[in-house]
Amino acid sequence: MPLDKTSISEITNKLQPKGQAFIDGEFVNALSGKVFDNISPRDGQVINQVASTDSEDVDRAVKAARSAFESGAWSRMAPKDRKKKLLRFAELFEANMDELAVLESLDMGKPISESREIDVNVVLETLQWYAECPDKIYDEIAPTGDNALAMITREPIGVVGAVVPWNFPMLMASWKFAPALATGNSVVLKPAEQSPLTAIRMAELASEADIPDGVFNVVPGLGPTAGRALGLHMDVDCLAFTGSGVVGKMFLEYAGQSNMKSVWLECGGKGPNIVLDDADLEKAAQRAATAICFNQGEVCVAPSRLIVSDKIHDDFMQIVVDTARAIEPGDPLDPDTRLGALVEQEHLARVEGYVEKGKAEGAELVLGGDRPNTNLGGYYLNPTIFDNVTNDMTIAREEIFGPVLSTITVKSDEEAVAVANDTPFGLGATLWGSDISRVHGIARSLRAGTVWVNNHDHSDITVPFGGYKQSGNGRDKSLHALDKYTELKTTWIEL
Ligand code: NAD
Repeated sequence: MPLDKTSISEITNKLQPKGQAFIDGEFVNALSGKVFDNISPRDGQVINQVASTDSEDVDRAVKAARSAFESGAWSRMAPKDRKKKLLRFAELFEANMDELAVLESLDMGKPISESREIDVNVVLETLQWYAECPDKIYDEIAPTGDNALAMITREPIGVVGAVVPWNFPMLMASWKFAPALATGNSVVLKPAEQSPLTAIRMAELASEADIPDGVFNVVPGLGPTAGRALGLHMDVDCLAFTGSGVVGKMFLEYAGQSNMKSVWLECGGKGPNIVLDDADLEKAAQRAATAICFNQGEVCVAPSRLIVSDKIHDDFMQIVVDTARAIEPGDPLDPDTRLGALVEQEHLARVEGYVEKGKAEGAELVLGGDRPNTNLGGYYLNPTIFDNVTNDMTIAREEIFGPVLSTITVKSDEEAVAVANDTPFGLGATLWGSDISRVHGIARSLRAGTVWVNNHDHSDITVPFGGYKQSGNGRDKSLHALDKYTELKTTWIEL
């Protein structure tokens, strides 16, 4: 249900966000007593102070997770009982979705219409779907022949560290912890320092659902302290990360420097959005504009490189620019807002740096690039569109993570595919056209984990999500995600 102004302000007035770590079933301060200011991007004001955990707190959380794992209270619980507890967790989540949506928008700046209509619903679906898994998945017997019985069983991997970004804080976290918990692991989750509030609240709800102490821990803190400590910890068996490629590569190094833990990475993207000359121009153009503004463009699969056939370029771009111009940034807690605030001052400055670079390298700025709502005190940027971009320009190569679109004109399908694939990333790709053979051919040629044809960003928990190349490895969502959190054991019995 959408939230109206009155209910949003009622919820906001009652909010008392918690800022402590959640370890072994209780709220605790960082052992050092350190905290950091948690600032809202909507107005630049401090929301609360949050525990800044460090290696000693991470160690405490990992020890609690290990001891819960070894006890078997969760890892060896009967699958149908684990399912019941996870379903109870989902129920409690559902009962608190209004509050969680407000917390999310307040903390990281996305419009409340999106956090209430999309984020919390997708998290709920994720919790419910993985909750149903434990008692529905069977193991295997290998066809070894008459003289042996070779059983292939899945076992939980142990202690799972999860380090997640700020752009979809609870959603990215749930894609890690829901399959990890469903398979019997203990979890230590480190949310991004820009957006810790919903992770802390979800740990509280998991505990209320009677998930045993130590099974789900949250350690808010900074990347180079808390995140690094989790990556280097000798007793973390698996580290699931979503975030930038730069930090993703650090986690690979941390694993090499410590215990060779398995590392799963969901990193950045620079999504191509190919529009063929026979596409439904109105639909493709409107989606090109709305998609780059969704979540302020802070989306790993943002279709940020618009690759347009020269035959339709002018008419098409007119609709893109008109649609984007009508999307006005506003207060994330206003139910009418469709484009919120960028997550923090430094990030806004970084995005503006890309706008300057685009101009300096010869791209044509046809819309935006400037800050609206300066009276609100938050971090807002108007929808920004560049035309006449070439794929070697910085704004076509690097992930901007803001509402900034780079348009590249091409003369043929072959050129469109070559430009689309000429990137270090391979997360999402989008394609618009009406000839079925033509779109199938192009879709096959695109090096990306997901290709959307005549839509962008359709999603369901049943389909895997992840990237080729430097967008990462492994897959979140679907049954494939369970592979990340389980070991395969062969037990060979001679008959
Ligand atoms: P980030 O890499 O800066 O931070 C991600 C997490 O890593 C945070 O929790 C942060 O505290 C931690 N971290 C930072 N420095 C660290 C260090 N030195 N050691 C250990 N941990 C450290 O990313 P971000 O800015 O929070 O998020 C944006 C990025 O996330 C973008 O690149 C985006 O594409 C990516 N992302 C990818 C997906 C996907 O599924 N592929 C989804 C969402 C976001």
